[in-house]
Amino acid sequence: MTPPAPSRTTDGPARSRLVVLAGPTAVGKGTVAAAVRDQHPDVWISVSATTRKPRPGEVDGVHYHFVTEAEFDRLVDAGDMLEWAVVHKVARYGTPRGPVDEALSAGRPALLEIDLQGARQVRDSMPEALQVFLKPPSWEELVRRLVGRGTETEEERERRLATARDELAAEPEFDVTIVNHEVHEAADELVTLMTADPQVRP
Ligand code: 5GP
Repeated sequence: MTPPAPSRTTDGPARSRLVVLAGPTAVGKGTVAAAVRDQHPDVWISVSATTRKPRPGEVDGVHYHFVTEAEFDRLVDAGDMLEWAVVHKVARYGTPRGPVDEALSAGRPALLEIDLQGARQVRDSMPEALQVFLKPPSWEELVRRLVGRGTETEEERERRLATARDELAAEPEFDVTIVNHEVHEAADELVTLMTADPQVRP
């Protein structure tokens, strides 16, 4: 797919579309973002900073910037975070602001894969961003995916399911919903939205 040229306002440089992808825990946001990364290298994907420890296979600077609590404090105090939140009551996650601005100024469609609290902050600070909600085909499927991942303890899983229930109720806040039946279809739908004219809201 050839993305259309980013639209240009009369008084500023070309800016491409910023898209926020949110949705309940274990819905597959990370997997959909990874499929976008593999199949659509024209799309820029933000690398978040987090205070949680890396899981096996996760690489610093690729999956996340793994930082200490003190480093995270410093980024927040310097105003370098576009948004940040405590997620699942265990760790802080945030979007470094500078790289997002650079990508948009370079005319690249930019994707933030973040939680609901972060999506709400971006809605306030950058209302022009397109807010996309990724939804599971059903509640049962969401539970199955969370259990199937097998990376969390029982207590952690219960906490994430409770959060997921609240997060599902937030769907009406979003501009568009994508149902994650199949990862590549969801990624294609997302990229179609990302590369549409940013002046035209779906
Ligand atoms: P995980 O620890 O499984 O990688 O991610 C946990 C949650 O943190 C996911 O719901 C993910 O969307 C969210 N998350 C990842 N990066 C960010 C970020 O930069 N900001 C916010 N607010 N949430 C994030």
